[in-house]
Amino acid sequence: MTRVTRIREGIRKLRNKRVSVVLAPSGTGASRTFRISLFRCYVIGAALCIFASSLFVISLQYVSRRETVNRLDELTRRGEARERQFDEVAAQRERFQEKLLALAAFDDSLRVVHDLGAIPDDVRRAGVGGPLTDISHLVKAGRDKNVDDLELALRQAQLQRDSFEDIISAQARTRHIFDHTPAVKPCAGRVVSGFCWRRNPIFGGVQFHKGIDVATRNGTPIIAPADGVVTFAGVKSGYGYCVFIRHGYGFETRYGHCSQLRVREGRRVKRGDIIAFVGATGWAIGPHLHYEVLVGGTHVDPAQYVLPDYLID
Ligand SMILES: [Zn+2]
Repeated sequence: MTRVTRIREGIRKLRNKRVSVVLAPSGTGASRTFRISLFRCYVIGAALCIFASSLFVISLQYVSRRETVNRLDELTRRGEARERQFDEVAAQRERFQEKLLALAAFDDSLRVVHDLGAIPDDVRRAGVGGPLTDISHLVKAGRDKNVDDLELALRQAQLQRDSFEDIISAQARTRHIFDHTPAVKPCAGRVVSGFCWRRNPIFGGVQFHKGIDVATRNGTPIIAPADGVVTFAGVKSGYGYCVFIRHGYGFETRYGHCSQLRVREGRRVKRGDIIAFVGATGWAIGPHLHYEVLVGGTHVDPAQYVLPDYLID
């Protein structure tokens, strides 16, 4: 007997075998009985298994697809949020560059004041001079231009900071020069004799007066007109009691006919320090200060080194 024949014989036996299904109501009423072949039972059972398996697979696919859709929605939301962040970064960068431009204009003015020379436009645009700044944490795929622009703005800001540091240094130098430049009248009083040719009031004859004479009461304080170091404090022919101060930058000042000295040689003085008091020692016909200013060893008109009060701190 072949295998096919055996299968046919098996099916025929199953068809011949029957089972009874009794449906009995829970209450009163007649029960109903169905007779069905065993073969059909197997067929119906197999169909139900296939149906249940298919339903299970379809359900799994549905759940998986739903998760994928949710994931895509989440990625889309994140992408949109990131897009908004980049737009905000771009807007902030533009505002930053506007402020840099305003600072650059201010910087140019300050550089002119301090004789530093302007920064060429192409150098300022390129931000040359600043170190490369690590902003790799800002790098986003596909947005390299934004990152490049940020990098450039940071370099420009660094250049600006370097320039301000130059200006601060220049300002400090300027301040130091100003502090060591005679800039005030050493004592109160009236200028009675200027920096000019004149007749000598004691010996007669015409000679050049190398300073100015400030007439005032005996004992009036004399102050240093600038920072410096006392190079002489004592008596000299003609000057009487006198003080010489070296200020640096080629400046020297001298004070003659004092009644009393307050400083000694080597003493450092600041502008405004009292160094002596007005008198009439030496070749003087009355109490006054004889005040000389020298630049590079040459006498100059002291009146040129008395600035208006509003220019002095
Ligand atoms: Zn004089």
